[in-house]
Amino acid sequence: MASATTTPPTNGHAPAQPAPPTPPAPPAPTPAAPPTGFNAGTPGGELALCPYCGHRQSNRVQCERCKGLFEPLSRQATQNAMGPWYLRDEQNPFRPGCSFEKLKALAEKGRVQRDSIIRGPTTRQFWTLACNTPGVAVLLGECHSCHRRVSPDDYMCKSCGVVLGYTGDRQHMGLSPIKLLPGEASPAAVASSVMGTSDRRPHGPVREIPAITPAPAAPVQQRMPEPAPVTQAEPEGPAPISAGARLAERRRQSRRDAMRVAIATIIGVGVMGGAIGAVAMFSPSSGDAEAAQAETPDQP
Ligand SMILES: [Zn+2]
Ligand SMILES: [Zn+2]
Repeated sequence: MASATTTPPTNGHAPAQPAPPTPPAPPAPTPAAPPTGFNAGTPGGELALCPYCGHRQSNRVQCERCKGLFEPLSRQATQNAMGPWYLRDEQNPFRPGCSFEKLKALAEKGRVQRDSIIRGPTTRQFWTLACNTPGVAVLLGECHSCHRRVSPDDYMCKSCGVVLGYTGDRQHMGLSPIKLLPGEASPAAVASSVMGTSDRRPHGPVREIPAITPAPAAPVQQRMPEPAPVTQAEPEGPAPISAGARLAERRRQSRRDAMRVAIATIIGVGVMGGAIGAVAMFSPSSGDAEAAQAETPDQP
């Protein structure tokens, strides 16, 4: 029974490590039952699917990859330790997230360090260094904001006054509100969506490390996650091109207009000259013609 709970592989854990999570309440009364995975007997054939890391294998008792046991108590123990915190681990990228308590235990064991890459509710689920993560840096004896020394029990940083601790339940992901992106609505609606609900958290979550990485990368990365600017670039892209085209078109148009004016002037002058000449030529006989016309009615 006790051995049944040995391997709940939660995120951030070395695969073979036995489970720190507390022995769970007895959920399933069949510890001796032949241990099969949640998804044992997948369509793939006789392979079992590890419920913890998704590895498919023939072993139906324990995962060859993450070492998790498949029987019910181990599953429950893993479930108990699950939560919205993730420790980036390239060796085991498919582990479930862990609870804050679990993360805290990992920090106390030295498995989370200031340059560990984590994400969770206080980072809005963006990957962040542990030393910049509210609620986690304090566990490492560091203020996430000013990076001065603090005690893991401190509520508030004595240097900068920021609140250090984290209180949240395991269901809380900490995601920021959804905002409209350019193209999804009218520009006015997008603007008010982006500007209006700018929720400023007490402590910026996606700040970069002060000591390890110099500032330049920080602002860029901070903004990258915000979806708006990325897509904003698209509408702006075509704009300069069409503006230039418009300018060129305007220049062409004004050149055309100037030509037209010149031609019209030449024609006008020519016509005027011709008209004057004609008037001069026909003026003597025109009086006769008028007289003849005037006389015409009288003729019959
Ligand atoms: Zn596994
Ligand atoms: Zn501070």
